[in-house]
Amino acid sequence: MADTLDSLAIEIRRCKKCPLHRSRKRAVPGIGPSSAKVFFIGEAPGEEEDVRGLPFIGRAGKMMGKLVSDDAQLPREILFLTNTVRCHPPHNRDPFVDEVAACSDWTKKQLDVIQPTLVVTLGRFAADPYFHGLPMGEIHSCLTRKDGQLIFAAYHPAASLHQPGLRSALSQDFRLIGEVVRYLA
Ligand code: SF4
Repeated sequence: MADTLDSLAIEIRRCKKCPLHRSRKRAVPGIGPSSAKVFFIGEAPGEEEDVRGLPFIGRAGKMMGKLVSDDAQLPREILFLTNTVRCHPPHNRDPFVDEVAACSDWTKKQLDVIQPTLVVTLGRFAADPYFHGLPMGEIHSCLTRKDGQLIFAAYHPAASLHQPGLRSALSQDFRLIGEVVRYLA
């Protein structure tokens, strides 16, 4: 039987493919419709996401909502939101390369179901597999293509909470995301 987002979410919640399953409270498969046009990949679920099983809530989630509505000017109904790893890393540490690699299989399966117009990587952990580990300062607002899929690199919304100087770069990234999606529609 073909995968659906719901069937993948059930599998992800049971997944034990990397050590992060041991410390998670709830896996966070992602949220959005199978008809989504834009597929956002963030870093990892935070503490609040771990408790609720939902991505992009809390302060970074609020910032994400503002960037999507005010800068990209895109409706929420056309977005799918997920992360490079779907289980919260202990003590908010960075995800390890082998954890990201293990979880990338779920990314691929969700992409196969959704077939979005545009994939947007948020921050360096999401960008690295597509942009060869280049620094965010060099690749943000850039497009690339991999296996026929168009991919756009943006800063992570949480970056501006720690470095307010990145707020204008984030606005630029999201304005361009909106323009690219409207151009491709
Ligand atoms: S992070 Fe991904 S690969 Fe690792 S256990 Fe969670 S769902 Fe599975």
